[in-house]
Amino acid sequence: MANNEDVFKKIVSHAKEYGFIFPSSEIYDGLAAVYDYGQLGVELKNNIKQYWWKSMVQYHENIVGIDSAIFMHPKIWKASGHVDAFNDPLIDNKDSKKRYRADVLIEDHIAKIEDKIRKEVEKAAKRFENFDEAMFRSTNARVLEQQAKIDDITHRYSEAMNANDLEAVRQLILDLGIVCPISGTRNWTEVRQFNLMFATQMGSVADGADTIYLRPETAQGIFVNFLNVQKSGRMKIPFGIAQIGKAFRNEIVARQFIFRMREFEQMEMQFFVRPGEELKWFEYWKETRRKWHLALGISEKKYRFHDHEKLAHYANAATDIEFEFPFGFKELEGIHSRTNFDLSRHSEFSGKKLQYFDPELNESYTPYVIETSIGLDRTFLAIFSYAYHEETLEDGSQRVVLKIPTILAPYKAAVLPLVKKDGLPEKAQQIVDSLKYDYMVQYDEKDAIGRRYRRQDAIGTPFCITVDNQTLANGTVTVRERDTMQQERIPAENLNAYLHGKIQPLSH
Ligand code: ATP
Repeated sequence: MANNEDVFKKIVSHAKEYGFIFPSSEIYDGLAAVYDYGQLGVELKNNIKQYWWKSMVQYHENIVGIDSAIFMHPKIWKASGHVDAFNDPLIDNKDSKKRYRADVLIEDHIAKIEDKIRKEVEKAAKRFENFDEAMFRSTNARVLEQQAKIDDITHRYSEAMNANDLEAVRQLILDLGIVCPISGTRNWTEVRQFNLMFATQMGSVADGADTIYLRPETAQGIFVNFLNVQKSGRMKIPFGIAQIGKAFRNEIVARQFIFRMREFEQMEMQFFVRPGEELKWFEYWKETRRKWHLALGISEKKYRFHDHEKLAHYANAATDIEFEFPFGFKELEGIHSRTNFDLSRHSEFSGKKLQYFDPELNESYTPYVIETSIGLDRTFLAIFSYAYHEETLEDGSQRVVLKIPTILAPYKAAVLPLVKKDGLPEKAQQIVDSLKYDYMVQYDEKDAIGRRYRRQDAIGTPFCITVDNQTLANGTVTVRERDTMQQERIPAENLNAYLHGKIQPLSH
């Protein structure tokens, strides 16, 4: 059986071969960690955006959306803390000249120890039947020993980072004997902090111009518009503001395809609540977001919540929703209780009072905030990799099928004349015309019907509508369903209603 790395490689090449995702600037040899969405990728991406937007804005009467500019006043990033503290600790190997995130080197080392523990437990499980007490004791002792190592590393790392002691981080890397994967040596430089924001100049003359930043998150565009939206929309607390947009981070370790990009999209929502009620709403959003993910039909086993033990200075609760990507469990979404930090800081830095008058309490206060922040590209990767299946059919042939939820599929149906003659193409084209105002449909007449089915399976089209001689005789077509490959015959005039019945919005 193919291992996860092979599967991941196949997913990446499938995404390119079928027009979902291309490396950016490919004819110039690409640009690291930047990707373009192709003709099918953009459809899937737009459908994911729409699902998120509907569930946030349309299904919640107290949430509205905005679209703020990418460029913002530079003081915003001072107030938010990004200028001073949006850093990753980096370290270089002097022999390979490769740069790494110190925390990632340590995380990878921990992952290796976790792997050892897993193997130890698997070995024990295999020998379960003739497993005696002595064996149990020695396995248990080895597992505990490895776990203690992990605890010690985690403790040393967080102590060092909390004290901003970068030398201690370097020492930890040396003590653990971590080597550069390229050169294999331990010849490390010191650890430095590296700010992740991209800076540019605004104004025609670079000299006197202000340095401005490409936003590293969309959230700040929401905070600085809090009063505008609250007043113009006459919003009453609790209420939320949602936004989808580009964010930019100069990631040091840019790898794993669209998981970690330098230009990416976020779908964020800030929910403003009364002080003291934030933890109740935090739980509400944790549960609501969990249901959103599960409504995609993805197995619950693929998700886990990772509550933060070490909280950012402004947060009083935080959790990550992690997804099992082909390269392991990694963060997909963050849910944070951000207290009144952001609004207070913007009040302080702008000199404008960002408060809410609560008519029920008859008092003004700075609202507390619960944030839900999910990467659009990571969601794309989660859905795409979960949908990717290689199947052997009863006749021994193989197919690759993308089992994308119907509502998110780039094309909802393909219309295929059985042969390229006898008036079938014209009839098929008529059917396309009757459906195209409601659905993305594709017409395809090239190659044998079996090959056309395979092509549609590979891009995740849920329904193939085949037009044959019977269609001309009695107006019926066959509809083949992607996942079961079952076919049924229905009158062509019922197709619109048929698709409508099958393609239902997701429920959260
Ligand atoms: P990580 O620890 O993986 O770098 P983060 O904790 O810095 O992520 P947040 O700042 O909480 O991420 O951003 C919210 C969401 O934005 C993340 O959950 C993720 O889905 C997405 N995201 C963040 N950085 C990137 C990136 N470089 N490429 C793609 N998506 C990203």
